[in-house]
Amino acid sequence: MKAVAVIPGKAKSAHLADLEKPDINSVLDGRGVLVRVLRVGVDGTDKEINAAEYGAAPPGYNFLVTGHEGFGIVEKVGTNVSELKPGDYVVATVRRPGKSIYDVIGTNDMTTDDTYYERGINLLHGFLTEYYVDDAEYIVRVPALLRNIGVLLEPFTVVQKGITQAYEAQRRLRIWRPRKAAVMGAGTIGLLAALALKLRGMDVTVFARQPKPNLKADLLADIETRYVSTQETSILDGAARFGLFDLTFEATGASTVVFESMQAVAKNGVLVLSSVTGGTKKLEVAADKINLDFVLGNKLLVGTVNANREYFESGVRDMALSHAMYPGWMERLLTHPVEGLDNYTDAFNKLETAREAIKVFYEVAAF
Ligand code: BGC
Ligand code: ZN
Repeated sequence: MKAVAVIPGKAKSAHLADLEKPDINSVLDGRGVLVRVLRVGVDGTDKEINAAEYGAAPPGYNFLVTGHEGFGIVEKVGTNVSELKPGDYVVATVRRPGKSIYDVIGTNDMTTDDTYYERGINLLHGFLTEYYVDDAEYIVRVPALLRNIGVLLEPFTVVQKGITQAYEAQRRLRIWRPRKAAVMGAGTIGLLAALALKLRGMDVTVFARQPKPNLKADLLADIETRYVSTQETSILDGAARFGLFDLTFEATGASTVVFESMQAVAKNGVLVLSSVTGGTKKLEVAADKINLDFVLGNKLLVGTVNANREYFESGVRDMALSHAMYPGWMERLLTHPVEGLDNYTDAFNKLETAREAIKVFYEVAAF
């Protein structure tokens, strides 16, 4: 079986590896599910893995099969699986449980372990191959009506978790009705965050670098969302005009934006941080002012990573709502298909160079 792999620790080591077809009985108690891979999305994490900044091979291997944004079709289920059947479209979660109490209760996205296990990222092979087997516990069904956007579910879950965490944390307030939201960044996560906030009835402003007109601004206009280019209007000026913001979702990948975003939070508001910033950047900030406003305004800052099954399920529900409210919109995020696993060089090139790319994804098999 073909698979796209890297050699962790070695930059630009993407290559085709040969894997044995997995056995459904490798999962105990008849809970295995064999999935044929149809599509796999790629993102900044894959870029970092191929740059050897991130990622580790599973024990016993010197390579890591990449791909954590999978979409596939069930081919076979174990004797003890009643919730899935052959022909179902599915997406698998990414992280597998470790040892902490949070893992034990099914919230492995909140692990306090130092070592974490993520398919296609850390210590477990990913989905950029022809078939995979996993425990039914980690496999979520996608209705056939949503199959064209199924590959967007994993990135959408990152957004789902961040927003749900914000609402959960805001239960510190007796009442919280967020009206104005901001999203920092208009990459895949930023656009999906804008959609999810819009679906929750908020007035959404997206801040991103590129000046208008551009595809992202057009897409956002189609879901009645404001696009502000930071080359024309700073975050602080934008906040003065359209904010302050009850809920801000930061997804630029640039840590410097975090401190500007902190100055655009409304009283009692929340800022959700989701950028994985691997660098070592340092910055001078208005520390007293930022701190004072956070204290006097009872503001909240919360980090978020990964997503457990709950957020995959809420992601599917939001996809259905999106399909009802903005039919065809999520499909338009699928800008850059790559034909087949053999074309991994093309996939990395698109990821690296295509400025207008929103989602680069492999078409592994037709459906
Ligand atoms: C993935 C998450 C993962 C995170 C950190 C992201 O690209 O979508 O599932 O937890 O990287 O490895
Ligand atoms: Zn990712």
